[in-house]
Amino acid sequence: MCGIVGYIGTKKASPILINGLLRLEYRGYDSAGISTIEKDGLSIMKDKGRVKNLSNLDGIDKLEGTIGIAHTRWATHGKPSKENSHPHMDNSKTFSVVHNGIIENYNELRKFLTEKGYTFYSQTDTEVIPNLIHYYFTKDTENDDLKFLRAVRNACLDLKGSFALEVISSLYPDNMIVVRQDSPLVIGTCQDEKYLSSDIPAILSYTKDFYLLNDLEFVVLSTSAEMLPIFALETYAKEKLSIISFGNPISHTWTFPANSAASWSKSPVFIRPYVTVWSALTAVPIIRPVEALSPDGISIEYTVFF
Ligand code: GLU
Repeated sequence: MCGIVGYIGTKKASPILINGLLRLEYRGYDSAGISTIEKDGLSIMKDKGRVKNLSNLDGIDKLEGTIGIAHTRWATHGKPSKENSHPHMDNSKTFSVVHNGIIENYNELRKFLTEKGYTFYSQTDTEVIPNLIHYYFTKDTENDDLKFLRAVRNACLDLKGSFALEVISSLYPDNMIVVRQDSPLVIGTCQDEKYLSSDIPAILSYTKDFYLLNDLEFVVLSTSAEMLPIFALETYAKEKLSIISFGNPISHTWTFPANSAASWSKSPVFIRPYVTVWSALTAVPIIRPVEALSPDGISIEYTVFF
């Protein structure tokens, strides 16, 4: 069982990522790596061995990016090596991905992508993911704000198996997209910062506000408070697709009958879910503070984020 860490905010990401990886060391791993968005594009630093080795790599202290993803690997496909360590990039080096889990149909996907001209540099199942994202991204003729999200979503719909994913792109220097299926991933929010991790203890020193992702909830994290124009996605929605976004609340508050909105997942009391948009079920982006949930079914208040 490996670990995933992510950061998007105003501080330098790399020390936060390394610190998070150190806190996940107890889960076991054979390699470690990070990727950040720098002024001149995506950077990747990775190697087999301890997180300490990673933190001593030349140039890691020069990274300035405030958005980054990080990974400790427990090899399932391919030996522990630098090439097989995460993050992995697509051939054009536009997308960088960390993955926890196993892609059961990776052979089939690798064959498909190879036939399309893609080259693979590792033995991992994971490397199909950034290349699939690139494949869908370049195939998409629309050029709207949702293009990145659509590419990640389309790639994920092809994946069989388990995954917790963080994706960043040199084309979207203010965003990170995360999603999970049968592998853990937690988002911690703290004012204008978001911390991601495979488990809560790794980021507990930064925030006490968490959102536990449900399977196939695609979360678009942004450095700005703006929310992506999510409604357009309804056209592409399949039954389980939902999107979450985080931003600063504005003052609009609506009251709905308790049973009119989408269902919410039960969370431990200290977990405070923020915003869920069920694109297939409702056209309203909603905030779901636990304290506002009404057990007697009378009414629930939702604050809309824009
Ligand atoms: N299956 C992936 C690999 O072997 C990820 C393993 C993990 O969860 O660390 O690279």
